[in-house]
Amino acid sequence: MNWDWELITRHTYIGITPLWKAIFYGIILSSLGVGVVWYWKRLQLWRQGQPDTDPLPLKIRLQNMLGYALGQKKVPRHRFASLFHLPLYAGFVMLFIGTTLLAIAEWTEIGSHIFLEKGIWFHKGLYYILYEVTLDLFGLGVIFGCVLALWRRHVQKPKSVSLERMDGVAVWLLLLICLNGYALESARIALERNPEFMNPPRPQYAQVWSFVGYTFSPLFENLSVSGYRLWWWFHALSIASWFAVLPFTRLRHWFLAPIVAYYKPNYLPNTPSIENIERVEQTGRIGVNSIREFSRWHLMSLDACMGCGRCERVCPAYATGKPLNPKRIVEKLRDAMANGKGDDLTQVISDEELFACTTCGACNNECPVLIEHPTLIMEMRRHRVAEGNLRGTAAGTLQRTMTQSNPWGLPLAERMKWAQGLNVPTVRENPNFEVLFWVGCAGAYDGRGQQIARAIVKLLQRAGVNFAVLGPEERCTGDTPRRLGEDLLFQELAMHNVETLKQVNPRRIVTMCPHCLHTIKNEYKKFGAAFEVVHHAQLLAELIQQGKLPRVQPDSNGGVVYHDPCYLARVNRIADAPREVLGAAVSDLREPERNRDRTFCCGAGGGRMWMDELPHERPGVIRAEELLKTGARTVAVGCPFCMIMVSDSIKTKDDTVPVKDISEILLERIEAMAPQPTSVVN
Ligand code: SF4
Ligand code: SF4
Repeated sequence: MNWDWELITRHTYIGITPLWKAIFYGIILSSLGVGVVWYWKRLQLWRQGQPDTDPLPLKIRLQNMLGYALGQKKVPRHRFASLFHLPLYAGFVMLFIGTTLLAIAEWTEIGSHIFLEKGIWFHKGLYYILYEVTLDLFGLGVIFGCVLALWRRHVQKPKSVSLERMDGVAVWLLLLICLNGYALESARIALERNPEFMNPPRPQYAQVWSFVGYTFSPLFENLSVSGYRLWWWFHALSIASWFAVLPFTRLRHWFLAPIVAYYKPNYLPNTPSIENIERVEQTGRIGVNSIREFSRWHLMSLDACMGCGRCERVCPAYATGKPLNPKRIVEKLRDAMANGKGDDLTQVISDEELFACTTCGACNNECPVLIEHPTLIMEMRRHRVAEGNLRGTAAGTLQRTMTQSNPWGLPLAERMKWAQGLNVPTVRENPNFEVLFWVGCAGAYDGRGQQIARAIVKLLQRAGVNFAVLGPEERCTGDTPRRLGEDLLFQELAMHNVETLKQVNPRRIVTMCPHCLHTIKNEYKKFGAAFEVVHHAQLLAELIQQGKLPRVQPDSNGGVVYHDPCYLARVNRIADAPREVLGAAVSDLREPERNRDRTFCCGAGGGRMWMDELPHERPGVIRAEELLKTGARTVAVGCPFCMIMVSDSIKTKDDTVPVKDISEILLERIEAMAPQPTSVVN
């Protein structure tokens, strides 16, 4: 092929004089300036908050920004949304880069004329071919995305999505800009092959790369230069208007989400700040009751909310008709911040909303812009608890935990009752233990929890693990007070436990409760504890792999379905180990529709286990239906709180289906297949 590579390029600014070009740049800069002013004003609002003192290392911040914002890590979790979001976002980014490159080509040519007396035009040849093909492709992606987004908005109208008029205006405007952009491209191509405009006309091999514009160019054969110019101005003004309205729509998350991801501090999910005792002493205030008391990052994250409703759709409180809707919490806080009405949040968010939360973390797990709803909620709860707004059974639980160091309110002396007849050593009796079994209050005091603790101990003894327990030296980890909003009580318990743990210096801690696991592993770090903490599923899976537990022939058990506990699978990302344990004993393991990190809460977390609920208000009932839908004849759990809630709910549906801990299922199978006396470790 004999191509003249110099001809493989295009005209820009056809019929636009330098003066009008300058006016165009002025308009675009002014419209971008609207955004700059908006962001500047919001920055002042965010700066009202408390400084974030625990930044993540630069590498992780960049990873977060690239993964969550630019890489859209969470978006594909929702099929329809990702179908339009990914092409829309990628297309917008590519068009933005493309337009900027074209502007750079233009300025390079102007600058080289002035300084080198020779125009340099790099927008040509192979670069031009790649540029045009890429931009035309991604432009089609934006149109496809806009059409689907508008379909969703005007036809599907999902209840959970906040459909604000300005957002719709921005999407329609973007669609218009893209369609108009292709029409303008077609018109330019038609002009460039008109000998009256360009002689000789631009050859076909130079034009085909703008394949969309090229296809439609015959429609514009008779367009004059002045007609083109008018059209061009219409396009330019549409773009300027779009930039100007963007900050007032939720499409602003395109710019805010990367910033929120980059600045995300070292916050673990479902882990609020530790209440600063000095601040409490100085101000007499506990928790958050003013927008100013949230961290700056939390305030910034509120503005990134796009109203997609993913948090609402997965919330167990909302699903059971409680007044809490995590999306509305974010919207109400954002509006209070913007309207200057955030000085008394009791006027914005009710106690009923706050105390309905199970802190299950489903909302923040889904949120594509990383908003931490449970943390916002728990920090506000603290103020309400301090004001005496928590009443009823949950308040009684806090009272019992304060006086007896456990939510059941039973004496410390009874903490070893569960172990009767098992010859379980305490750390005083077996100071050279290798594994500390953290029994937890449910294991120590709840009838069903005690059975789980006994099953775990029998398995540890079978495997010859050198373990010990704290016995009466163990206290509640403080999980319930912390989630309910009694952070000072949590701190008292945490400090006591950390002191005890430091004295016995365990190499490894195994817990039977995901809440104990989360608290000791993640939250005690702030109190100087750095221990290896694992859940019993992890230890048992390890013992199976090492061959320390007898290998048995798995049995179908009529089908077993596993319910993932929120604080295990979602908050601490432990979902494989329980399945490995069950896999060793069960040949027919079934999965409910919502599983692993997308599990549905049993309703016990956040202190909700201690609150009265009518049957139709129980998330556990919804969960029981999902579990029974698999047809399994046994339900497996890995948390003593899930055991209580799921058992209660399953009973209301089918009382022939037992609920068992994974350790109980494994032990039963081992005892059935390999009966032998247990070895006792002293
Ligand atoms: S943590 Fe769970 S219960 Fe609380 S708002 Fe989020 S989804 Fe709802
Ligand atoms: S908080 Fe997050 S998940 Fe909820 S509506 Fe806003 S962006 Fe969507």
